[in-house]
Amino acid sequence: MSTTDYRERRIRKLVGKAIGDFGLIQNHDRILVALSGGKDSWTLLRVLTRLQERAPVSFSLVAVTVHTGFPGFQTGPMEAWLQEQGYDYRIVKAPVHELMLEKLGPDDTPCSLCARIKRGVLYTQARELGCTRIALGHHREDFIETLLLNQFYNGKIKAMSPLLTADDGRNIVIRPLVYVPEDEIIRYASGAGFPITCCACPACGDQDLKRSRIKQLLSTLEREQPGIKASLLAALGAVEHRHLLTRATMPQAALHDPPCDKADHGRMV
Ligand code: SF4
Repeated sequence: MSTTDYRERRIRKLVGKAIGDFGLIQNHDRILVALSGGKDSWTLLRVLTRLQERAPVSFSLVAVTVHTGFPGFQTGPMEAWLQEQGYDYRIVKAPVHELMLEKLGPDDTPCSLCARIKRGVLYTQARELGCTRIALGHHREDFIETLLLNQFYNGKIKAMSPLLTADDGRNIVIRPLVYVPEDEIIRYASGAGFPITCCACPACGDQDLKRSRIKQLLSTLEREQPGIKASLLAALGAVEHRHLLTRATMPQAALHDPPCDKADHGRMV
């Protein structure tokens, strides 16, 4: 077995586990795989294809790439590869670049507008193509970085879900790479021969300072004590609501009782 096959097998196992744990794929699902052209989405597409050959349920895949209109975004090599490998795929044009030029000021950050437009295109495509699921290539680090970003900067305990109903209330979004560490994807994709394609966005590579600090912090902690990242991911599935400040999970009667006048009441817990 080659090193790439071995790496692929490891990722496949983690994806298979996520599919089983969260019921990500059902019999006869048609899955739209959002293919940006980067390492994560290629890995997702390839691994789902391999699982399709082995899974006890039957499902189909269609890869969809949103062409954002950035000058220099060349989808030719991607299309050639997809065709050669026999994939069902669509390249859909969306005026992301045009709208960014039209609507954003010099100091505005483009990513939320861009993400909104791309999301809308994917939802529309999913409906038109009769897809029952939209698969996105977020990996383990995306989940835990988002968790920490929300805690540090937004005052929320919130990350991502591996399975959720999208904002439009119709589409179901799945994230089968939830358990897969990013460095495993990097190592696998570098040997897998994917035509990795940059979307040529001018903002691409501009480091989101907050996210990049969180990334560094996590890497340092993981080096000092391996297992920190896995523990953070596990925490997302082990929420103890009773030990948080959420009023909805507190005993309602106690919440409405008149305040106790004993001076030490608050120290009893
Ligand atoms: S970096 Fe560019 S392509 Fe990526 S989300 Fe931001 S605006 Fe869109």
